[in-house]
Amino acid sequence: MELKEQIFDIIEKEFSRQSHGLELIASENYVSKNVMRAVGSILTNKYAEGYPAHRYYGGCEFVDKVENLAIERAKKLFNVNYVNVQPHSGSQANASVLTGFLKPGDKILGMSIACGGHLTHGTSVSFSGKLFQAYSYGVSKETERIDFEEVSRIAHEVKPKVIICGASAYSRDIDYKKFREISDEVGALLMADIAHPAGLIACGLLSDPFDYCHIVTTTTHKTLRGPRGGMIMMRNDFENPFGIVDKKGNLKMASAIIDSSVFPGNQGGPLMHVIAGKAVAFGEDLSDDYKKYIEQVRNNARHLAALFDSNGYRVVSGGTDNHLILLDLHNKNITGREAEIALDKIGVAVNKNMIPFDDRSAFTTSGIRIGTPAITTRGFKEDDCTKVFEFIDEAINHYQDDEYLAKMKQTLPQVFDLDNKPIC
Ligand SMILES: *Cc1c(COP(=O)(O)O)cnc(C)c1O
Repeated sequence: MELKEQIFDIIEKEFSRQSHGLELIASENYVSKNVMRAVGSILTNKYAEGYPAHRYYGGCEFVDKVENLAIERAKKLFNVNYVNVQPHSGSQANASVLTGFLKPGDKILGMSIACGGHLTHGTSVSFSGKLFQAYSYGVSKETERIDFEEVSRIAHEVKPKVIICGASAYSRDIDYKKFREISDEVGALLMADIAHPAGLIACGLLSDPFDYCHIVTTTTHKTLRGPRGGMIMMRNDFENPFGIVDKKGNLKMASAIIDSSVFPGNQGGPLMHVIAGKAVAFGEDLSDDYKKYIEQVRNNARHLAALFDSNGYRVVSGGTDNHLILLDLHNKNITGREAEIALDKIGVAVNKNMIPFDDRSAFTTSGIRIGTPAITTRGFKEDDCTKVFEFIDEAINHYQDDEYLAKMKQTLPQVFDLDNKPIC
């Protein structure tokens, strides 16, 4: 095979994998052909350090239009006044906010990863735990929802400069008002990271973080169904409370801090092809079709949660408000890792996940996380989700029987009529 063909041969195989399996990883989705058209375009050739009308390179006439459109559409989608569409990823968005407002050694408070938080909210393996003194809060043992008494107690004890709310494996809506009250009491900035539920928030299916949070970060590739990337937003700009000044000694506005922290603080040139893909995706997200899609995402998740719950599984926190559910597999005598492997053998992709107060390691885990954004893009409705439940249940009941699982994998594409549910 020619050198240049090798990678396209692998892409064909990955296309087949994505087409013939069920994607239940809560952070994944399938983008439209138009998003791919933009991301695969000649815009990748262009350097455009800086911001529209303020670039460090010539020839930016057209990429300026692209970036401005992405910004305008995002503003409309979330009803906000400030957007930075340049972060290369959700992690870069978080890094830009935290390093922009804080100095090394400052204190932050975020949700613990064991209870559903994200690596960039203060774990020791991430910049967020290495540069800053990071503290964490979790969920209450009884309700498995955010423990606001704990948030308040730790916030008053340590006086963090930034409090982060938002998570990767939390199936419930978030009370941003309570977070803001606590933030105000201790003089902290409140940042919401809506990387996962952004699409549901944009369509009004969950509480609006912009009412209460100073700054909101997100990814663009999860429920928003755009290209892989990040974004930072504010409903209203504000003067930073930490005395950060510009070269002339004037107090900097939050927007100026964020812009200079993204570039040149944390990144070089923006990925103009990806920003074009974001603009295309936001255009799609503003449509009635997308609103119907995201409602179906939530209905599918609720339907699945109810089925698991009524069939002997323990759903963490008893259900879901968003696009994902977390299962505690203790009573099924199977670990999260074993379940992930068994489901992979039938062509169903999920991820093992720690449950709150897990007695197993992050490698083994006692739970799995299941999300509905990707299958809903393929047109799955409640009926299809009933079959999804049955398939998962059957695989878990036969997890040690490789032959049985192999047979299930063979029947899966027909059972779900996958040839008639294309991924793009
Ligand atoms: C996925 C996620 C991110 C990071 O996204 P990347 O684009 O992979 O860097 C950040 N925060 C939360 C809560 C996430 O779920």
